[in-house]
Amino acid sequence: MGRRYRIGVIEGDGVGPEVVREALAVLRVAMPDTEFVEIGAGLNYFRRTGKLIEEGALDLIRSLDAVIKGPLTTPPGPGTYRSVNVLIRQALGLYANVRPFRSYRGVSLKEFNFVIVRENTEGLYSGVEGRFRDLAFSVKVATKAGCERVVRFAFNYAVSRGFRRVAAVHKANILKESDGLFREVFHEVAREYPNVEVNEVFVDAAAYNMVRNPQVFQVVVTPNLYGDILSDLAAGLVGSLGLCGSAQVGDGVAVFEPVHGSAPDIAGKGVANPIGEIEAAALMMEYLGGLRGDEALLNASTTLRDVVRGVVEEGRVLTPDVGGSAGTEEVGREVRERLARRLGLRGT
Ligand code: ATP
Repeated sequence: MGRRYRIGVIEGDGVGPEVVREALAVLRVAMPDTEFVEIGAGLNYFRRTGKLIEEGALDLIRSLDAVIKGPLTTPPGPGTYRSVNVLIRQALGLYANVRPFRSYRGVSLKEFNFVIVRENTEGLYSGVEGRFRDLAFSVKVATKAGCERVVRFAFNYAVSRGFRRVAAVHKANILKESDGLFREVFHEVAREYPNVEVNEVFVDAAAYNMVRNPQVFQVVVTPNLYGDILSDLAAGLVGSLGLCGSAQVGDGVAVFEPVHGSAPDIAGKGVANPIGEIEAAALMMEYLGGLRGDEALLNASTTLRDVVRGVVEEGRVLTPDVGGSAGTEEVGREVRERLARRLGLRGT
């Protein structure tokens, strides 16, 4: 590639280390001239050190080109520690969580190709919560600036990727203030993009339509919690949470991770699907290639996604979540070896 990148690696919890290992092996093929910098964070790291995230990690991340990250476990309920995922997103201002969902022939329930752009720093995940005796509350926070940056990101994303339609998904008929502001800003920003078709859908109807007619969606922009829930629904349509990757983007900083969580039920068994983490790696290559005008890296990211599509649609080497009997390593090796062949490299 002729260009040196510095990439942070957060291996994560549960299945994280297993799937990140495979994504890194793929990246070593696709971006051989890259330095990988390990960053400690999450439950495993907390158990070892008593800290949720390595000292100085946020400054370190800001100084890197990007981060590839595994899922991190967050225990539920009061009295437990705060989500490190949310902390990283908020502290680094990773305001757009971009999740492409494209159907695989023979695996997915229907045919579709859409992208959910989830607001990633505000909404019901703002951490403004409290309890007074038998009363508990969580405040949904929306700021004009917060809505504007993610909505604008979604429109720019649509234009740059050749999508013609952007839909706002909200519940402004009930949440008149927070979702009302989101909706207002959406229409304001939309005026700057006269060539993009816009529409709005209430989140409940969006869930229904996404299952019934997913092909009508192109780019969807939506507040934090709705985006979280609809992403899992969309991953179900694709065929498995283990197949989907995401980009979390801020100003000059980006973190790439799979859509799935730490999957403690299958951790350590060597059966987790590594494709979601590998897709995250492909999104990272696409992001860096675009940012740096690195055509070779852009091409390598397209080739990687093509290779993944081939492996999934052929159905010969797949993990059990998508009906196969292969292990994590086997799927990773298949992708890596095919990628190396396609890029004209020998031996991995
Ligand atoms: P978290 O709270 O960390 O987001 P979660 O319990 O909400 O986690 P996941 O960890 O994503 O959700 O797991 C949901 C289901 O999807 C589990 O049954 C899990 O085994 C399955 N799953 C998640 N990721 C994968 C993967 N990479 N390969 C196979 N199955 C997976």
